[in-house]
Amino acid sequence: MPQKTILKGLTLDELRQWVVQQGWERFRADQIFSWLYTKRATSFQEMTDIGKAVRQRLGEIADVGLLPVLKTVTSAETGTVKFLLGLRDGNTVECVYIPEKNRRTVCLSSQVGCPLGCTFCATGQMGFRRNLAAWEILEQLLVVERTIGQKLTNVVFMGMGEPFLNYQEVMRAADLISDERGISISHRKIVISTVGIVGSIRRMAEEERPYRLAISLNAADDDTRTQIMPINRRYKIHELLEAAKYYYEKTRRRVTFEYVLIRGVNDRKRDAERLVQLLRGFPCKINLIPYNETVPEYQRPSLEHVERFSRWLRPLPAPIIVRWSRGRDIRAACGQLWSEGMQERTPSPFASSGETSPA
Ligand code: SF4
Repeated sequence: MPQKTILKGLTLDELRQWVVQQGWERFRADQIFSWLYTKRATSFQEMTDIGKAVRQRLGEIADVGLLPVLKTVTSAETGTVKFLLGLRDGNTVECVYIPEKNRRTVCLSSQVGCPLGCTFCATGQMGFRRNLAAWEILEQLLVVERTIGQKLTNVVFMGMGEPFLNYQEVMRAADLISDERGISISHRKIVISTVGIVGSIRRMAEEERPYRLAISLNAADDDTRTQIMPINRRYKIHELLEAAKYYYEKTRRRVTFEYVLIRGVNDRKRDAERLVQLLRGFPCKINLIPYNETVPEYQRPSLEHVERFSRWLRPLPAPIIVRWSRGRDIRAACGQLWSEGMQERTPSPFASSGETSPA
C-alpha cells in the first residue's frame, strides 16, 4: 500500500498543489489548512465543511500527522507541564508548556538527542538519534494547545537538540507557526536558540528570517567554553561573536546571549569581567540562567552569588535578566529550559505531583 502523505508540515502553497494533484479544487487546501492549525483537528472526519466523499478519500491517502502523548508530568507549583510524545519510529521526544502571567510558552525540541555533547546537558549525554521533521515539531505545539485548550503566545526552540543542525525543518516549522492563516504566533514571539553554529547564524541573517536569535554562550573564554561545550573547538568565541555582529548589522535585531551559571565553572569574578570585555559595545541582551542540576558534576550557584554575578556585569549597557528555569528535571530538555519569574528553590516541576500517563 502506498504511504499516506502527512499533510501537517506542508505550507499552504504545497497543500494547494497536492490538493489539485488529487483532482480537487484549490480551496480544499485552505479548508484543510484551517482545520489542521486553527481548529486543531485530529481527524479528517472532523472537517465537516468538506464533503463526505472527499473526507473519506483523504482518510485513505493522507495522514493528519498526530503523535501520541505517552506521558505528562505537571508541576503543582508552577503549572509547567512536560510532555513525552511517541514518534512513529519508536523514539520519543519531549516538549514543555510553561504558563506565566500573560504568556503561554511552549519549548520545542528539534532533534531526538543531540550530537553536540555539552557536558552540563542531559540531552547532550544521550547522543544523537535523528532530526525531527517539521510536522513532528509542529505537532509538539499542537499537542500542547489541544491539551490546554488555549492558544500559545510564545515559542522557544530550546528543547532537545540544536535547532541549527536541523535548519530547514526548524525554519519550515517556524514559518508555519507564524503563518497568519494558521497558528499565527507572531515571529517576534518565536526564539531560536543555538550554541552557535556560525554558518547558520549568517544564513539566518542573509535569508532575513524574522525570528529572534538567542546564543547559548556560557563562557567568555575559549578554555572554559571548550570544557563545557565541545562545539567551541570548531567555532571559537571570536568567530561566534563576529557572526552575531554580522547578524545584528544585517537585521538590526539584538541577539540574546544566554549564560547558564554553573558554580565554580563560569561564575567567577574574572568570568564576569571577561564577559564585560567581550560584549562591551555590542547591542545585545543577556539572560543569566542559574544552572538546573541535571548532571551531577555541576551545581547551581546560590541566589546571592547569582545576584553578585549580575552586579559584576553592570558596566555593560545591555539589559541583564536572571531567568530561573522551570524545566528542572534532567530529561526536561537540555538544561536550558527556562522561564522568567521562577522563584529560587521551587521544587522540580517534574519531581512533584501531577504525574499522569494517558492511555
Ligand atoms: S545544550 Fe543544546 S546543543 Fe548542547 S548538548 Fe544540550 S541540546 Fe545539544
